[in-house]
Amino acid sequence: MTGILHENLWYENTGFRCRRCGGPVYKSDLPEYAYQCFTCDEDFYSFEVEPQGDRPPPRIIVARRVDGITLNTDLELLLDDSGQPIIFADQTKAEAFLLEHGVDAEEMAHMYFVEVPEDTERFLEEIMIRPGDE
Ligand SMILES: [Zn+2]
Repeated sequence: MTGILHENLWYENTGFRCRRCGGPVYKSDLPEYAYQCFTCDEDFYSFEVEPQGDRPPPRIIVARRVDGITLNTDLELLLDDSGQPIIFADQTKAEAFLLEHGVDAEEMAHMYFVEVPEDTERFLEEIMIRPGDE
């Protein structure tokens, strides 16, 4: 299952997208709404969003929490030799890569397949900043 980390919380892909910006929507934090769009910073009722349809799946990077599933801890990203996160075309490709590199199914179940938004550069900048780096 792919998803995003927003302010250190995990939001799973819902299969729906925002009518305004076309980006994916995630479960709302507000009980009166069904979904929210982080790009538009808006909450929506379920009839206000539309299915993602046959759009290509989001590109993803692989992450895992350094300290198991505890929230508010650092993430470890899967990096290439130059220290940059590896961006996969979709979750299937990432899983194949992990299997090839000796990661078993149990370990894989603890990994996050983080969706990469269109503004890749800004996203990478944000996700690479760790507490204590400043
Ligand atoms: Zn939107």
